[in-house]
Amino acid sequence: MVRITFAGDELSGLEIEDPAASVRLLLPNPGEDLTIPTWNGNEFLRDDGSRPIIRTFTPRRFDPEVPELDLDLVLHSAGAASAWALQATEGAQAAISGPGRGYEVDPGVTDYLLVGDESAIPAISQLLEAIAPNATIRVHLEVEGEFGQVDLPGHPGRHLSWHTLDDEQRGSHVVRALASEEIGPDTTIWCAGQAAAMQKVRNHLFKERGVARSQATVRGYWK
Ligand SMILES: Cc1cc2nc3c(=O)[nH]c(=O)nc-3n(C[C@H](O)[C@H](O)[C@H](O)COP(=O)(O)OP(=O)(O)OC[C@H]3O[C@@H](n4cnc5c(N)ncnc54)[C@H](O)[C@@H]3O)c2cc1C
Repeated sequence: MVRITFAGDELSGLEIEDPAASVRLLLPNPGEDLTIPTWNGNEFLRDDGSRPIIRTFTPRRFDPEVPELDLDLVLHSAGAASAWALQATEGAQAAISGPGRGYEVDPGVTDYLLVGDESAIPAISQLLEAIAPNATIRVHLEVEGEFGQVDLPGHPGRHLSWHTLDDEQRGSHVVRALASEEIGPDTTIWCAGQAAAMQKVRNHLFKERGVARSQATVRGYWK
């Protein structure tokens, strides 16, 4: 995971109210300058008709005074954003749009289950910062072996478990961790990660466990 700080007066006016919101990051094609694509009513396209590199990330920290925005990007083996983050140096150009809606934390909820993979760590970190100190927060994170463990914000009610994938399929630890947890009518669940893994989570929670849909937010973050 690498933290990239974006700065520039163009960030003025960005307002991020809730944790686990999103922004879209536009990147230049490798070896080219950044060009802003045009909206054709359906999608953004470059002048030559090709699709620009646009990816979604969690606005981990935004300081409107500077203005300055931090994104934490997972480095993995096969993506344009990951490759860009690995080689980006000071002055590299990118554009940001957003924000997309975040998660409104209900101050009355005192029992949370937060579950996800590497890509959900920025959002889960923000949730840990936003949830009231009297709540209990059970956190399960499934990560690839080489990812290691990163520091997450402290919280007096935090119970954090790391699950390292060996040869298992993505999501196997996530579903097993959820299966091992007690889920009461007052438990609120937030879960995000690989899309296929999140489908297994939905099956487990809504079909096998009969959890009410209003109790759980399950978001596919990548394919
Ligand atoms: C609301 C929202 C918030 C998100 N917040 C974050 C965030 O804060 N930090 C973050 O890193 N990601 C976040 N993501 C996920 C991120 O958008 C995807 O991982 C994205 O695909 C990365 O772009 P890329 O160009 O690196 O890979 P892509 O070019 O999109 O994908 C290429 C291939 O790389 C692999 N891949 C993609 N993402 C991952 C991954 N995370 N781990 C392992 N393999 C992967 C897949 O095999 C995929 O086929 C978020 C997604 C959403 C929807």
